[in-house]
Amino acid sequence: MPVLTKPASSFINGTWVEGSGAAVSRCNPAAPEETVTSYRQAGSAELEQAIRSAAAAARAWDDLGILARGRILSAAAARIRERAEEIAAVMTAEHGKTMAESRMEVDASADTFDYHGGSARNPVGTEYPSSHPDERILTVRRPLGIVGVITPWNFPLQIPAWKIAPALLHGNTVVWKSASHTPGVSVLLMDILAAAGVPAGVVNLLLGPGPLGSELVSHPMVAGVTFTGSVPVGHHIRSIVCGRGAKLQLELGGHNATLVLADADVELAASSVVSAAMGSTGQKCTATRRIILVGDGHEAFLSRVKDKVSALVLGPGTDPAVQIGPVVSASARDEIIAAISQSLAEGGEILAQAATPAGDGYYVPPTLLTGPQSMSICQEEVFGPVATVLHAATLDEAIALANNTAFGLTAAVFTSDERAARRCVTYLEAGLVKVNAPSTGSELHAPFGGMKDSTFAGPREQNSAVAAAFFTHEKTAYLRLAPEKA
Ligand code: NAD
Repeated sequence: MPVLTKPASSFINGTWVEGSGAAVSRCNPAAPEETVTSYRQAGSAELEQAIRSAAAAARAWDDLGILARGRILSAAAARIRERAEEIAAVMTAEHGKTMAESRMEVDASADTFDYHGGSARNPVGTEYPSSHPDERILTVRRPLGIVGVITPWNFPLQIPAWKIAPALLHGNTVVWKSASHTPGVSVLLMDILAAAGVPAGVVNLLLGPGPLGSELVSHPMVAGVTFTGSVPVGHHIRSIVCGRGAKLQLELGGHNATLVLADADVELAASSVVSAAMGSTGQKCTATRRIILVGDGHEAFLSRVKDKVSALVLGPGTDPAVQIGPVVSASARDEIIAAISQSLAEGGEILAQAATPAGDGYYVPPTLLTGPQSMSICQEEVFGPVATVLHAATLDEAIALANNTAFGLTAAVFTSDERAARRCVTYLEAGLVKVNAPSTGSELHAPFGGMKDSTFAGPREQNSAVAAAFFTHEKTAYLRLAPEKA
């Protein structure tokens, strides 16, 4: 049964606008015969309309001032909390994640709006000494203008919140092309922002396909682009945005390693890697993809991981007993299953696998593999509940193995040896390294982002100081007093 109570459409200049493109519908991945959301895709005409609206709204939004904008973001946080169950139900129906996972995401998204709303009171700018006695030198921050936001489906509310909240706080206007698999969640966020007091034209939503994202980032009036998604699409966007000299933020895929040393707490390490590899059906950029066992003596750890993986309960996200929902689409399911088969053909073996429920939902059994590190799955991001166990004789060998991919998003290490942990923090090529904690999860007020192919040089996401660096231009003002009148 559809859970979105209003028809989905794009949102431009404060109005719901039916797109001029193809009619599409989004099914429930746990019950593909059930349509959750139907809409017409936006096209070039709606994109142009959204950009013109964002341009027209920019001056008044800037003039409103950061404190008033912060209050609107805090009001949005309150409305997200009021409508948490409704949003979580739409998220589970469109995405497939469990209701517990959806509720956590909704809560974290409300926190994100609150955090950026509250950071409106942070100091802005710096004062520098001047060699002239009647002069003050100050830096001021000014909005970029129109920010293009492109987001993936795997965190359909949280990732847009990380981008839209700071963009708005700093006085930008936004044109957002959301992910095609989760249109209903995007629609609810627009409804909430409008009700919280964001004026018409300040934030605009385009429900559209990938190529519309290309048009958005190519548009000469879009001054900054913030993108989260896969490496190939990110690199395509990088070539366009850098080519025309606009500001760019990229948060891309990962191939995250977790190192387990022989002195690790076995239960902590085992439960953490299983939740980091299989939680959210493995559809997290920060998921553990490779488990690297350092040295010998890992029998107890491996046996617990195998037991935990085999015992995972799959099913529809609305069933409270279910731990792992379906993957997002039939093509995602087929690609993941093909990657498992390819690993077996390349010398891999399955150490443990959970049972798949009956029915035509898009289920992939959580799978623990082992095999040679030359298997393609040790290099390519397979976005599902699959992890590979590898072995290294020494810590340095394990670090080299962990670093042996093009990605550099997150990493984790389990050990009680502080010296070994510090060595990992220093030498693992990942933007976020966690010790005795899963490779997934982060605090919203700490910087987040990757290295190597997982990112793009420049300010990373989240943390308010970093967000201010990306979403504003810093200007320097030399304020000299006029001579005193005689
Ligand atoms: P994707 O790259 O396929 O799509 C992301 C967004 O880009 C979608 O809105 C899509 O419609 C749009 N898009 C597609 N083609 C485009 C084009 N040619 N030009 C412009 N936009 C285009 O990624 P996905 O499948 O939605 O999400 C999964 C990927 O996102 C994984 O690689 C995952 O690791 C990554 N991810 C990274 C982070 C992070 O913070 N580093 C977080 C979540 C997801």
